[in-house]
Amino acid sequence: MTDRDYYEILGVSRNATQDEIKSAYRKLALKYHPDRNKNDPQAEEKFKEATEAYEVLSDPEKRAIYDKYGKAGLQGAGFDEHGFGYKAYTDFSDIFSDFSSIFEEIFGGGFRYSSGDYSRRGADLRYNLEISLEDAAIGKEITVEIPRKETCDECKGTGAKPGSRPQMCSLCQGSGRVRTTQGFFSITSTCPQCKGSGKIIRDQCSKCKGEGLVTKHRKLNIKIPPGVENGSKIRIKGEGEAGPQGGPPGDLYVIVYIKKHPIFERQGDDLVIKVNIPITKAILGGEIEVPLIDGKKAKLKIPPGTQNNQIFRIRSKGMPIMGSSSKGDQLVIVNIQIPQNLSSRAKELIKELDKELELMGLKKETYAKP
Ligand SMILES: [Zn+2]
Ligand SMILES: [Zn+2]
Repeated sequence: MTDRDYYEILGVSRNATQDEIKSAYRKLALKYHPDRNKNDPQAEEKFKEATEAYEVLSDPEKRAIYDKYGKAGLQGAGFDEHGFGYKAYTDFSDIFSDFSSIFEEIFGGGFRYSSGDYSRRGADLRYNLEISLEDAAIGKEITVEIPRKETCDECKGTGAKPGSRPQMCSLCQGSGRVRTTQGFFSITSTCPQCKGSGKIIRDQCSKCKGEGLVTKHRKLNIKIPPGVENGSKIRIKGEGEAGPQGGPPGDLYVIVYIKKHPIFERQGDDLVIKVNIPITKAILGGEIEVPLIDGKKAKLKIPPGTQNNQIFRIRSKGMPIMGSSSKGDQLVIVNIQIPQNLSSRAKELIKELDKELELMGLKKETYAKP
């Protein structure tokens, strides 16, 4: 259901006549008609929105409630119970079956829809894609092979044996819906004979067994944006399964999983790495080489007197920040290595150092909170 004002959607004034409303809707419906805007989700949305607006404003009773109380008033009035305007139109078949009389009137038969064309959308598919942290940092185009149902080429998706055609369902006259009257109420429901497709197939296509779909392995290129987060969902519109009997395809959702890296850890946009350095370098200072995620190396200055677990920051060498040209940082944690199994000469030198530190007054314990 749209949030926009119905008058605004149709581009008419609040006191527009029924003829003005109808003519405004006719223009929009022709412009955004799904037949003329194949695979254009924006047109699809506009078409649904205009239809919703027309549905209300063309009905004097609903229009009066809308003028007084807005959309909330219509919902409260219980119009949704009858399948009018107040469901989210996710499917064209709903529009075309609910408004078939409007369409016949407006389009004069020239734009007739066999409801089966839009009756059932194909299934959405989910594909789990595992990538390395390097790929997540640099971005990549990955080719994957996805098994999915596609329109059968033997019968062009009709499900009927080539040379034969699906017959119009006799029970619903091809509309896919049947109307039953109970007392005061008239209820529309899915046709039990054709299950809403409006068609009956007598000679089934042998390749797809009447389904109109066959399973194929399709190669698709998936663009991984640099800086992608673990668990990201990439939606590829229209690359899901084909709809039965020519219905629109579903979408493909690629879920990106980033493998654990042996040395880098990601913390948001930053990358963290631990570097082991010898105790002498920590005391005397020096330079170290640090690997970067792009495979290059950076030189990092270690100042004299560097402490264990001290953190150094290499600017803009972390993960790319999505939607911007900047990057996070790389953090380097220094881990000072205390040598074991010293040679006797090394032991002598350390003892010498020990004496010197004592003279300098640096051998006393100090205390701190853990
Ligand atoms: Zn077939
Ligand atoms: Zn039927």
